[in-house]
Amino acid sequence: MNDSVSAAARPADIPSVDRLLNQPFLQPLIARHGRAPATAALRRLLDGLRAEAVAGRLTRQALEDAALHDALAEALARDSAPRLRAVFNLTGTVLHTNLGRALLPESAVQAVMRAMTSAANLEFDLDDGGRGDRDDLIDDLLCELTGAEAATVVNNNAAAVLLVLNTLAQRREVVVSRGELVEIGGAFRIPDVMQRAGAKLVEIGTTNRTHPHDYANAVGARTAMLMKVHCSNYEITGFTRSVEVAEVASIARPHGVPVVVDLGSGTLCDLTRWGLPRETTVRETVAAGADLVTFSGDKLLGGPQAGLIVGRKDLIAKIKKNPLKRALRVGKITLAALEPVLRLYRDPETLTQTLPTLRLLTRPVSSMATMAERLLPRLQPVLGEAWRVDAVPTVSQIGSGAMPGGRLPSYGLAIAPSGAAGGKRGGRQLQRLEAALRGLPRPVIGRVGDQALWLDLRCLEDADEAEFVAQWAQLADALRS
Ligand SMILES: *Cc1c(COP(=O)(O)O)cnc(C)c1O
Repeated sequence: MNDSVSAAARPADIPSVDRLLNQPFLQPLIARHGRAPATAALRRLLDGLRAEAVAGRLTRQALEDAALHDALAEALARDSAPRLRAVFNLTGTVLHTNLGRALLPESAVQAVMRAMTSAANLEFDLDDGGRGDRDDLIDDLLCELTGAEAATVVNNNAAAVLLVLNTLAQRREVVVSRGELVEIGGAFRIPDVMQRAGAKLVEIGTTNRTHPHDYANAVGARTAMLMKVHCSNYEITGFTRSVEVAEVASIARPHGVPVVVDLGSGTLCDLTRWGLPRETTVRETVAAGADLVTFSGDKLLGGPQAGLIVGRKDLIAKIKKNPLKRALRVGKITLAALEPVLRLYRDPETLTQTLPTLRLLTRPVSSMATMAERLLPRLQPVLGEAWRVDAVPTVSQIGSGAMPGGRLPSYGLAIAPSGAAGGKRGGRQLQRLEAALRGLPRPVIGRVGDQALWLDLRCLEDADEAEFVAQWAQLADALRS
């Protein structure tokens, strides 16, 4: 860079916004992006240049037409790029909350497109032409798949829990084991939700042990429900005791008090048939005597963000009458996506092909290992000698609080600074690599650990491999610059 005084520009050399807006060389950009966005971006650009000039760091070259044009073009491109972008989830966590959880099957994508671009019978009864209920679109499917009498859908499972508590337990007591006072991702804590719902929490037992008599002793005239919450993101092991739903139900029944189970992830079929860890299904929970069960639509179920509530008809009817239900209801896009996903569960045999979440969770290690071996010789030369790429076994997680102890053997790529670049320097290099991967057109999200950057290939499906590889030249450029 030429820093000589003769090439330095002064603040007074910077043209005005108005003058530049009328320059022919900027007209194509203004036409493409619109006058208002172009004006705003230009103002910001000139403010930045002014600050540089004041600091004596601005060159005259930066004020030439071509330079101004390119700088504005870049700023406008940045401004107009979508904020919600497709990324590669190579973290190894299949249902990653920060990366949008479940991917939808093609049938759901088609249904969503249809619902978005045309009017639909969201609340319209096509048989009699009268007003319908949006829950009618999916409640029979949910009942069929869970064995429940009735069902309803809200925005997410947190909303489902809030709505159930507010409907059945306002100003009354809810009995929960101390071992189940879950916090999910900070913003959702059972005690806090309880308070917001207007219910009074009655804690029983201890962190590691809760007995049937703890429930029995806590039930009284003010008890609205006995509640069980799935320990989504932690495990209590060792000297432990918890009470099964069936036993809690037998304690509750003589008192006429309902049992509510927040299953969290919630699954509609036995996952052990595919070698996945065991998780109690919604059907089993209903059969065990739960009066209401709440679970997520976008965790193990593999559908859109939603909160599903299934159970006793009279209780669901009460819930649907709560004005909060209106505030927490789902839109047509969610319902459009949910219906085909639920339909896939009618044929569990084909689920590992038809439902992306199960396809990814059941992908054999050999598939990821073959991919790692295939990618390795292509990526190593692109990164050059500064980095060492290895194809390595790793371990994926299901994520989103499903089976916290469940670990799925996987395979991936570990990228480490070559040579003796351990310690602080190696750490800085890894940070740069991680940032460069995040900066790609379709950002690649991996995980840093053990002095390497790990890319778990479980969620890189064959169809996306070419797009993934095509970006590596850009990565190498970013690392060199
Ligand atoms: C995930 C989870 C929730 C919240 O569900 P969202 O669908 O994310 O709102 C509530 N309870 C439990 C036990 C969970 O695991």
